[in-house]
Amino acid sequence: MAEHESLEFGKADFVLLDTVSMEEFMANLKLRFEKGRIYSYIGEVVVSVNPYRAMNIYGRDTIEQYKGRELYERPPHLFAIADAAYKAMKRRNKDTCIVISGESGAGKTEASKYIMQYIAAITNPNQRAEVERVKNMLLKSNCVLEAFGNAKTNRNDNSSRFGKYMDINFDFKGDPIGGHINNYLLEKVSGWLGFHIICVFHLQLLSGAPDSLLHSLHIKKDPKAYTYIKIGGQIKTSINDNADFKAVADAMKVIGFTGDEIQTVYKILATILHLGNLTFGVDGDVTLIENTKQVSVIRDLLSTKEENVEKALLYRTVATGRDVIEKQHTTQEASYGRDALAKAMYERLFCWIVGRINDIIEVKNYDARIHGKNTVIGVLDIYGFEIFQNNSFEQFCINYCNEKLQQLFIQLVLKQEQEEYQREGIPWKHIDYFNNQIIVDLVEQQHKGIFSILDEACMNVGKVTDEVFLQGLDVKLAKHAHFSSRKLSPTDKSLEFDRDFRIRHYAGDVAYSVVGFIDKNKDTLFQDFKRLLYNSSNPVLKGMWPEGKLRITEVTKRPLTAATLFKNSMILLVENLASKEPYYVRCIKPNDVKSPLLFEHERCRHQVEYLGLLENVRVRRAGFAYRQTYPRFLQRYKMISEFTWPNHDLPSDKEAVKKLLQGCRFDHDVAYGKTKVFIRTPRTLFSLEEQRAEM
Ligand code: ATP
Ligand code: MG
Repeated sequence: MAEHESLEFGKADFVLLDTVSMEEFMANLKLRFEKGRIYSYIGEVVVSVNPYRAMNIYGRDTIEQYKGRELYERPPHLFAIADAAYKAMKRRNKDTCIVISGESGAGKTEASKYIMQYIAAITNPNQRAEVERVKNMLLKSNCVLEAFGNAKTNRNDNSSRFGKYMDINFDFKGDPIGGHINNYLLEKVSGWLGFHIICVFHLQLLSGAPDSLLHSLHIKKDPKAYTYIKIGGQIKTSINDNADFKAVADAMKVIGFTGDEIQTVYKILATILHLGNLTFGVDGDVTLIENTKQVSVIRDLLSTKEENVEKALLYRTVATGRDVIEKQHTTQEASYGRDALAKAMYERLFCWIVGRINDIIEVKNYDARIHGKNTVIGVLDIYGFEIFQNNSFEQFCINYCNEKLQQLFIQLVLKQEQEEYQREGIPWKHIDYFNNQIIVDLVEQQHKGIFSILDEACMNVGKVTDEVFLQGLDVKLAKHAHFSSRKLSPTDKSLEFDRDFRIRHYAGDVAYSVVGFIDKNKDTLFQDFKRLLYNSSNPVLKGMWPEGKLRITEVTKRPLTAATLFKNSMILLVENLASKEPYYVRCIKPNDVKSPLLFEHERCRHQVEYLGLLENVRVRRAGFAYRQTYPRFLQRYKMISEFTWPNHDLPSDKEAVKKLLQGCRFDHDVAYGKTKVFIRTPRTLFSLEEQRAEM
């Protein structure tokens, strides 16, 4: 008997639970986790629980077991879903995508890497050199992106601070020929942790770079010497940082970054560290930089003039009517400007790296793009729902993103499923599910939505404060069932502060603090800094800051706000995903202490709830695990029945399939639609497969 049939490990597919209840679901999830079965299915959705230990289930032999197999033929695994997505792409010419979601530390990025590895392993059987080159690039680009886009947080030592969507393009043979990456909202500030502009590569640089490089960057090996690292609480470097530095440096070279580009990357990272150590003081009514030596270092690194660096940090050019004046910062404003510069440089660097990688990995072969069949598998690794002690703009964006993805999930899985049964004339008990479109609208609707209200508040003439934004919300959303605030519901205990507003998300209630919304939404980098960087004599750095070309009097158009940019990118993302055949991986984090043994019931239950897994099982159960058109079904199974092998003489394929299934005594587990046969449980299908194999 196949492993996924053995009860010792629990039910491999939650669809097979005796009754669908939270208790049963959790008991099964826990049992499987404790037995080391970290993957399960809900139909075609993979549920994964982070094992927090090395598992011996990703090797070459395992890959071979899954290659070309059907989902139900092997125990649940990421490889099975990767194979399903690949098969659909190759055989049926469909663009597919794999959406991986879950909270921080649940194992999304690891899952995406295993999926990529699987695809790399099963493609290019003929070892074509060009394809090997592309595969190598795709894998290497991952390594670089992680080094720059990940940070150590208290939730995850290797936490992705950006959402990532990667398309892999395939040619008509089903081999990878290129790719494209989109990144979403690199997080700038995280809760109480302070800055996350210190990426994993910063730490690798400190512990792994050769002395000569550090010397040229004026960098000390000691992480404690840098304020940003200290306030980020990331002093600990890992044992591997040394080796990793080399791996990332090599990867950049292999991908095709030039020597000058790589040097500029180092210089920018070093500049960020030096900036963090700058302190400001006053002398009379003059604001000044206390550690002027650092300014010379920064000047060298940025290839600019020293007085320009100092001026940009201490003054701001403002246009008043026709006049242009230089306004001196207070020490507070200067510190704010310094941090904004550091964050902006890091963010720009990251986006530039993504852009460069895209230049290099995009499908080059003209013929492949124009004439050849070119299909795509997309892999989305994106932050799940976040609820912290203190939730701010970033959590708001992330949770909005999850509402959008949930909406897509509902439309594709739940709605389409129901509609298909109707179309096929199969009796169907309607399943009620919560449609979260109302919350998506609450956030993104033009004029009425929270993003619009925020943008309006930012454009106010005169008073632009977080409070004005909150007032706007209170006025415009007073009647909305999913919105409340202290003012609207004064007795609500869950709203601790006057500055809080609350959204009733599909996954639960979240209170957000308005503090910082305005600031994070606006492009806060003074034009003076942009000009400083644009005027660098280092062409790579200059190229990253084209808008620095403008003088202050020429800056007329407001740049798009962070909220608008994010919203637009989410709408595009969802449109893109909706055009593809989706596969889902739902990741669960078993505990908060990275233990391979602990299954914290409450924590897991909460995740199961907001991932909507139970609802998912219900729809699947009310429905059918498998469906196939009659001719295709016959094509695969006709050899197991005397009535259909080698050909049947029944009036229709439908009749033939009926006869075949009656003969196997599976009639009770199937329904016959207009064009398709529907099989309720995977077990039936499994038996059919077995009989077929025995022929
Ligand atoms: P974030 O949203 O913070 O980026 P994430 O969901 O991407 O989190 P990962 O970085 O993939 O989380 O996983 C966190 C850690 O959990 C990994 O560094 C690894 O130690 C462990 N882990 C995750 N998946 C596996 C796995 N399949 N096998 C072994 N360990 C794993
Ligand atoms: Mg991650």
